[in-house]
Order: sequence, then C-alpha cells, then structure tokens
Amino acid sequence: MAEEIRFTKSERGFDKLIYLGYMYTRLRRNKNRVVWRCDMRGGCNATVPLSEDGSSVVKEPSEHKNHSADRGRIKAKECVENIKARAWTSREPKSVMSYSVMQAKLR
Ligand SMILES: [Zn+2]
Repeated sequence: MAEEIRFTKSERGFDKLIYLGYMYTRLRRNKNRVVWRCDMRGGCNATVPLSEDGSSVVKEPSEHKNHSADRGRIKAKECVENIKARAWTSREPKSVMSYSVMQAKLR
C-alpha cells in the first residue's frame, strides 16, 4: 500500500513534503518531475523524486544514512500548522492562539 504524500509549510513559508516519516524540502525540477531533499542536514542527502503535480512518488527515496524516520517530529510540525491555520479562520483572540502554538512547540 502506498503511503500518503502530504505537504506542509516550513517556518519560512516554503513547501515541505512529508513522506514515510521524513520531511523534505524542494531541491530542483527535472523535466516532468520535482526532486525533494531530506530536510535533516548534516550528512543526509536522501532525495525522492515526485511527479510534477506532487501526486505520486516516481521512485522510492534513497537511503537516509544517519537518522531514522521521526513521526513524532512530523506530528508536532503538523500540529503547529493546524493551529496556525485555525488562527486564520477562527475568531478566537490572538493571545489564545499564540499560547496554543507555544504549547504545541513545547510538547
Ligand atoms: Zn534524511
């Protein structure tokens, strides 16, 4: 069964790919595919090519040499993004929102 491909945003607003417990940032575009690179720096150069529209994995990711999948880190990341999204759409006071963002980061 193919694992879900998900996207989120980095702190700076760049697209991030979430796949198989790893996070990737966009590296380059190649003809009809887009190559994403693991966002864990310091020796890991694992990449995964996706189709141009990001809907499918062209080739399974290359090996992550010095770290393993970290679903907890991704969950925390997505949690922060969800709260941020909520902040845009809800009428809750800003102070409540920044408090829950802080809590999510601390967890
Ligand atoms: Zn990696």
